[in-house]
Amino acid sequence: PSLHRQRHQFVIDFVRRNKPRKVVDLGCSECSLLKKLKFHREVELLVGVDINGAKVKKKMHGLGPISTDYLQPTYDQLRVELYQGSVTQKDVRLRGFDLVTSIELIEHLTLADVECFSEVVFGYMIPVAVIVSTPNSEFNPLFTGLTGFRHSDHKFEWTRAEFQSWALKVCLEYGYEVEFTGVGQAPPGQQESVGFCSQIGVFHRRAGRDHCNMLFGDDADDVFSYTLLYSINY
Ligand code: SAM
Repeated sequence: PSLHRQRHQFVIDFVRRNKPRKVVDLGCSECSLLKKLKFHREVELLVGVDINGAKVKKKMHGLGPISTDYLQPTYDQLRVELYQGSVTQKDVRLRGFDLVTSIELIEHLTLADVECFSEVVFGYMIPVAVIVSTPNSEFNPLFTGLTGFRHSDHKFEWTRAEFQSWALKVCLEYGYEVEFTGVGQAPPGQQESVGFCSQIGVFHRRAGRDHCNMLFGDDADDVFSYTLLYSINY
């Protein structure tokens, strides 16, 4: 399977195991991951955010119920919401989620904006779990003919050590723990030295989910910075 599919499959496997009820995909682009997640009946609220509203609008209607959903309802309840907005900005509607996914997003941000992202996601949204994927630059020599970054819009590509140092700093600052993994295997014998093609950090909040309300201080007051593009109740 393509690397793109492997990354999404990683999220789907996580959802199967952990059964989050509220999930938000940051940098959802054309909503392809959200469309796959909609088939998991534990999910009650599925949200997508992207800075590029035109990209989101392109295929968002595919998130609505399809005829078989009416003939054979598989959802207890499901609400889908899509927003245009930047992950560097807070929005109160994104607090209190069980899972935040950020798949191949952070490398499109400047390092200053990655700092804002960390604060918004881990310090303000305070989800139970976060999955972050980003290219592993140590894998790049295996791409023949690649000079520079994998994509012209990338602002950086991190080594495993660079990614891990960002992630561990986030954990210290905001009270999370992280496990490192990835998708896209190197050829036999090279896995150790280059790592995965896409590196992934899976973060869990240290305090249990019941402490959630205590964590949300008064600064939660009504920051609505995102624009709602689409919403539907099943
Ligand atoms: N996550 C998707 C996937 O796995 O297929 C798409 C990843 S795409 C490489 C990066 C996406 O991040 C783009 O759709 C882009 O518009 C979005 N993006 C870039 N900067 C953003 C920001 N500051 N806030 C929200 N989305 C942003």
